[in-house]
Amino acid sequence: MKNSAPSIRISEIFGPTIQGEGSLIGQPTVFIRTGGCDYRCAWCDTLYAVESQYRDTWKPMQADEIMSKVRSLSGGVPILITLSGGNPAIQPLAPLISAGKAEGYQFAMETQGSVVQPWFSDLDYLVLSPKPPSSNMHTDYEKIYECMKTAGKGVDITLKIVVMDEVDFKYARDMHERYPNIRMILQPGNHTPLDNPDFYAGGDCSVDINGILDRQRWLVEKVVENKLYGISVLPQLHVLLWGNLRGV
Ligand code: SF4
Repeated sequence: MKNSAPSIRISEIFGPTIQGEGSLIGQPTVFIRTGGCDYRCAWCDTLYAVESQYRDTWKPMQADEIMSKVRSLSGGVPILITLSGGNPAIQPLAPLISAGKAEGYQFAMETQGSVVQPWFSDLDYLVLSPKPPSSNMHTDYEKIYECMKTAGKGVDITLKIVVMDEVDFKYARDMHERYPNIRMILQPGNHTPLDNPDFYAGGDCSVDINGILDRQRWLVEKVVENKLYGISVLPQLHVLLWGNLRGV
């Protein structure tokens, strides 16, 4: 019988690898990256999961097909599944989360907080990653609040903000003042070489490690200088280890 559930647009499924950032940094996980995003951040490092020109590479899949792929990757061992994108919040993910949880898998999702879904409360971890001014995107603060409220107390919520400069730091600080009880993680931005044709062709995926580490040190100084002791500063571990290489 044909499955009538709406399909999920998948850009890639890979792992297990480690979560490279945020509150679950270092934890083994399988990534499910969905295709499509309502944002166009100036420094997006996953344009292949955002821009419509890559749409042909996205595969419509049903929840059971996705879980079968995850199972084969994890060797059937329930593992943390990380939902990423693009913006995974624009996909119909409720059946996938329900199927995975029935088998003991846990789910973390990262989204910018521009779209709210009732199934946020089914997640184990919600990483809200509002985009600062350097992204050239606008933050809908009401939506961010709705995301938190909809997820509710049963979901571990983190605010994670990429910081490129002083203006971004002020944005993050303001966000922390709005939500002092939500764990906040800042991470130095990674200026993606979007003008590098090799980036999406699987060639040179190197990044300016020294530049990233300089920004990391600067960020630590800013947090300490401003006595923001409730904020953590973390690198993007996968970028330090593998640059902008896909699928690791
Ligand atoms: Fe890229 Fe994320 Fe911005 Fe979407 S929200 S454009 S995936 S950085």
